[in-house]
Amino acid sequence: MTSISDNIKRILTTIQQLSPKNPVTLLAVSKTQTSQTILEAYRTGQRNFGENYLQEAISKINDCQKTDIIWHFIGSIQSNKTKTIADNFAWVHSVDRLKIATRLNQHRAGQPPLNICLQINIDNEPTKSGLLIEEVDWVIQQCKTLENIQLRGLMCIPKAGNENVSFKKMQALFAQYPEFDTLSMGMSGDLETAIKHGSNIVRVGRAIFGKRTNTIFKE
Ligand SMILES: *Cc1c(COP(=O)(O)O)cnc(C)c1O
Repeated sequence: MTSISDNIKRILTTIQQLSPKNPVTLLAVSKTQTSQTILEAYRTGQRNFGENYLQEAISKINDCQKTDIIWHFIGSIQSNKTKTIADNFAWVHSVDRLKIATRLNQHRAGQPPLNICLQINIDNEPTKSGLLIEEVDWVIQQCKTLENIQLRGLMCIPKAGNENVSFKKMQALFAQYPEFDTLSMGMSGDLETAIKHGSNIVRVGRAIFGKRTNTIFKE
């Protein structure tokens, strides 16, 4: 069995080999993992952690208050949860409609701007959330007027089996917005393909922590 520390080292080496010039951030997706496991990864130097389920995340954020962990929200967002998200996270990758951006902006007043990515439904899948390509321009223009959020870039979850095509489309879309610096794509199974298509933040769970058998947290 490999350890979390070995897994992180191996992934960082892969990233370095695939993208020697442009830095790629490793976001450790710690959903269903315990605070102890997060702290184990933290002690190896890992700083960015991603969570999907709010209630579970808040309890871990509280447990890890003495750390300088950077917390990213990557799960689907109900609008009545935007205050808690705005108060507890540095990043939100899964902003999939203008209403959510507006509410995050309201609740972030008086704090440093919240970093956000717009989630794109790049394969136009009816079961997936995210903006359609034709909606992106308008939402970006609106987001630029919101002073408590900093629009950093784009995020996607590609259709299974279609990663190469999806990532290529994302790369082209991202290239239309030179003001953005963040392209959030790639998970355990497709991070190499994502980096080849310009991803600069990969969201990795299972390849770091192993299979998610832990179901102590539910929401
Ligand atoms: C769970 C999750 C990941 C990580 O997936 P793995 O396959 O465990 O690497 C990445 N992004 C999102 C949005 C997720 O929900």
